[in-house]
Amino acid sequence: MEIRGKSVCNGIAIGKLAVFQRADNTVKRYAVEDTEVEIRRFEEARERAKSQLSELYDRALKEAGQGEAAIFEVHRMLLDDQGFTEAVCTGIRDQGVNAEFAVSMAGEQVSQMFSTMPDAYMRDRAADVRDVCSRLTAVLSGREEKGFDGEEPVILLAEDLAPSETVRLDKSRILSLVIRQGSSNSHTAILARSMNIPALVRTDFPGDADGRMGIVDGREGKLILDPSPEEIERYRALRDQEDRKTRQMQEMKGQESITLDGRRIRLYANIGSVSDVESALANDAEGIGLFRSEFLYLESADYPTEEEQFQAYRKVAEAMAGKKVIIRTLDIGADKQADYFQLDKEANPAMGYRAIRICLDRPEVFTTQLRAIYRASCYGNIAVMFPMIISVSEVRQIKEIARQVREELTEEGIPYREIELGIMIETPAAVMMSEELGREVDFFSVGTNDLTQYTLAIDRQNPKLDAFYDPHHPAVLKMLETVADNGHKTGCWVGICGELGADTTLTETFLRMGFDEISVNPSKILEVRKAIRSVDLRG
Ligand code: PEP
Ligand code: MG
Repeated sequence: MEIRGKSVCNGIAIGKLAVFQRADNTVKRYAVEDTEVEIRRFEEARERAKSQLSELYDRALKEAGQGEAAIFEVHRMLLDDQGFTEAVCTGIRDQGVNAEFAVSMAGEQVSQMFSTMPDAYMRDRAADVRDVCSRLTAVLSGREEKGFDGEEPVILLAEDLAPSETVRLDKSRILSLVIRQGSSNSHTAILARSMNIPALVRTDFPGDADGRMGIVDGREGKLILDPSPEEIERYRALRDQEDRKTRQMQEMKGQESITLDGRRIRLYANIGSVSDVESALANDAEGIGLFRSEFLYLESADYPTEEEQFQAYRKVAEAMAGKKVIIRTLDIGADKQADYFQLDKEANPAMGYRAIRICLDRPEVFTTQLRAIYRASCYGNIAVMFPMIISVSEVRQIKEIARQVREELTEEGIPYREIELGIMIETPAAVMMSEELGREVDFFSVGTNDLTQYTLAIDRQNPKLDAFYDPHHPAVLKMLETVADNGHKTGCWVGICGELGADTTLTETFLRMGFDEISVNPSKILEVRKAIRSVDLRG
């Protein structure tokens, strides 16, 4: 029996299924005599929960890094939130109920508020509120969670996993994660990617799956229940083949990204947060070709300050120790929403008020980011590029704003370096204008994800159109060639940072077109390097 799911991390796992057993969290309501005693009980449980969270933070920091650990900071903050604690105390006082019940009522209110927010990231935070509240009620009623039994490694199935549950899991015993709910942004998905194990979300597994055999195929997004011996054999062979490939790829570490006839190409990594630098370095990235700066805005409840941004850019620049770090300025709007931007709902968001359009329309947001980038420039080899460009006049406006930012920094005595300015080529207009645009900037980086969407008039978010979304379409490839030619004609270097850059069936084509740089997901670097090293451009 096959069950479809959404794959959030590739790979194959074969093993016994174990359903994650959560502690019984039903909360009973009862009347209390002395509400002040009950409030003290709540306060003690809150302190106990906070110290548990500190322990979890330290453990996650050690095991999974800052990105994973940060969530426990957020949980601690929720426990300190005045609105939440007041709602619990008022519940106890006004209704004369037990602390467990007051906590679950207050938690329900707050998580409801999150779950109706338009922004997907904020909606996912409802799970954090529920997680904190069940920690509190567990402490109050002295209950413990069971997790999963036995010694052997398993494919773990769960409704959803809260961050505090994932951090307590014995990771060495998990072959794969399969979640009934979840999304690509959920913690489970992030955890699976950092553990590099196959994982599916939105998979409707049956209630009696515990203890049965299963296969997770993360490449095709499916869970096979009770596989036949032939299926197990076939998947074992596939898994061994993948393992061999991964081991072989390790040999590419420390090698140059150079063709057989001596043509060198810069092989960089795409990252979406500061913590991703670790995997970029572990996979031998020669630089960061696309640092998607949106995460700073999406993870925040309000505009990130100049200082916060400066610290993030500086950390990445320092970690890369002199290797190039290309920061892409804010690309918000369309599928990436943050409430505090108060963007209107649009009929065609992909073609709407987004990216550089917002930045030019709200110069205070743009200037804050540029100041942070220039300040960080003293700590490494930083460059900046701008998304969704369609015209020369936009680039001139950007350059003028960047000039003013530098002038202000000089007046304030704040040091900065001159940095390379580039643009992303992700609209057909930018391709058509690439010769003129090339005279204005230092480099181009082609965003093939959006360029394919706009060239083929196919919404990249619409799963119904997956079969039509074809980045190999000759129109897209001709555009890439035009961009490379016009870039070089005007003295720019040219790169690719969309997903297509990792498509090794096109590596030779890109090299023949003359691309100077390719930037890919860190997990793809070694594979692309291997492809580059097998190309011979002679003849
Ligand atoms: C692209 O469009 O190819 C790109 C790299 O940018 P993003 O995927 O962030 O839109
Ligand atoms: Mg894009």
